Amino acid sequence: MSQVRVRFAPSPTGGLHIGGVRTAIFNHLYAKKMGGKFILRIEDTDQARFVAEAEAYIKETLSWCNINPEEGPDIGGDYGPYRQSERKSIYQSYTQQLIDEGKAYYAFDTRHEIDQMREKLKNAGVLNLNYNSASRKTMTNSLTLSKNEVNEKLEAGIPYVVRFKMPDKREIRFYDLVRGWVLVHSSTLDDKVILKSDGLATYHLANVVDDYLMKITHVIRGEEWLPSAPLHVLLYEAFNWGSDMPDYVHLPLILKPDGNGKLSKRSADKGGFPIFPLNWTDPCSGEIYEGFREMGFSSNAVVNFLSLLGWNPGGDQEIFDLKGLIKNFSIERIGKSGTKFDFEKAKWFNQHYLKTMKFESLAQVVIKDLRDEYSIECSPQLGKQIVELFVQRVTFSREFASASQFIFHQPQLYDQKVIHKKWNEKSKNALNVYANKLDVFSDINGDEARELFQRTMVSIQINPSKVLQLLRVSIMGEGSGPDLMKIIEILGPFEISKRIRNAMEQFDYIKAGLL
Ligand code: GLU
Repeated sequence: MSQVRVRFAPSPTGGLHIGGVRTAIFNHLYAKKMGGKFILRIEDTDQARFVAEAEAYIKETLSWCNINPEEGPDIGGDYGPYRQSERKSIYQSYTQQLIDEGKAYYAFDTRHEIDQMREKLKNAGVLNLNYNSASRKTMTNSLTLSKNEVNEKLEAGIPYVVRFKMPDKREIRFYDLVRGWVLVHSSTLDDKVILKSDGLATYHLANVVDDYLMKITHVIRGEEWLPSAPLHVLLYEAFNWGSDMPDYVHLPLILKPDGNGKLSKRSADKGGFPIFPLNWTDPCSGEIYEGFREMGFSSNAVVNFLSLLGWNPGGDQEIFDLKGLIKNFSIERIGKSGTKFDFEKAKWFNQHYLKTMKFESLAQVVIKDLRDEYSIECSPQLGKQIVELFVQRVTFSREFASASQFIFHQPQLYDQKVIHKKWNEKSKNALNVYANKLDVFSDINGDEARELFQRTMVSIQINPSKVLQLLRVSIMGEGSGPDLMKIIEILGPFEISKRIRNAMEQFDYIKAGLL
């Protein structure tokens, strides 16, 4: 079998969204699994929708995800150029070949004439209003004009497009590795434009010519391209490349979280989650869309999450690093039906990967965030302690800095509910005694603090559970949070007893309804 060669072929018409990233990931996984090549091809034939920033954005996304192409624009390779706008003459000569062989034709119709043709057909009750094997006979094209007339028009510079001559009454069959046999009748298809009046090929022609010339073995792309596949199959045939046709793999749609329809920018906005991998600035409106990366997702989490949208590894395992994904990936386990986008699941993955990161590097994030956002200087040791304290409780690394604010400031507000429920003479005495006991120590570790607390409560005959939450409220203001004894260790006995004493006074006021 020849070497597997797959391509990710985005059109730079806007920010690449996560559906496109998933396509890139699946291509990469398959290439690596098969010891093949992953190629990036920029499909920029649609000049009207071209967005200059989009290509750099695509490349940055792939690099962030660690799925770097081995051939592509700026990388090079044996089959370049890899930007379609640089392959204009290639498409023109292949178009000429189809014209010469009678498989494509010039069409000189204006937009107005095409509209008129549709109007006429509509009035006559015809359902299919396409430019096709029937309607083409009534139009101005090289099938209805004489050779001389055509040449005259071409010489006079009359604008034209080239259309593919869709075969009449043909059943088109092809095998999709996910969907099985796909059958389409040519009567449902139109004579697609393959070369536009600006001399540039359309997506269909460029896509097929490039897949052939770049020796692509598998076309792995989103389901939205399935309706184009029959035309692509016919183009392969028209060029007599049938035996080199790639295998088709159309990936299932990514659906909105509720399963109702395709995931879109609008549904992402509504659900409050990103649809772009990285921050994307809309070049027209200037609006900035927050990306997964900027929201605090690690690329490992995003790649793991997206790879499970439509691919089922079998078994219960969900956590896969890139290596594991490559090892386990198979086209056979790609599903047909749409797959729901579940943002909570994405967060779950991020939480998992956060826990696997080196605490030293997370501490660096904490130190920087505290400095930048709160003007707080934090030592590397304290940074690491903060990470240890919160790592089980946060989803994004940027949450550490805000969550740890109580470490740097004593509480301004206290959980009133806890106080009303638990503050009484006995618990007051218990906190007081514990504070006094702490005064003896210059420092204390978590285990010692816990033991001291237990012993103290036993000695004054109070159930520790009646005091523990109050102790927490006195230290951090809130009634729940991470390991309290670790907090005592971090803040130290001096600060803790100070906070307890300060809080006791406030608790009295709160209980009396004065605060
Ligand atoms: N240029 C198409 C896109 O923007 C690629 C479709 C394909 O992979 O064939 O998605």
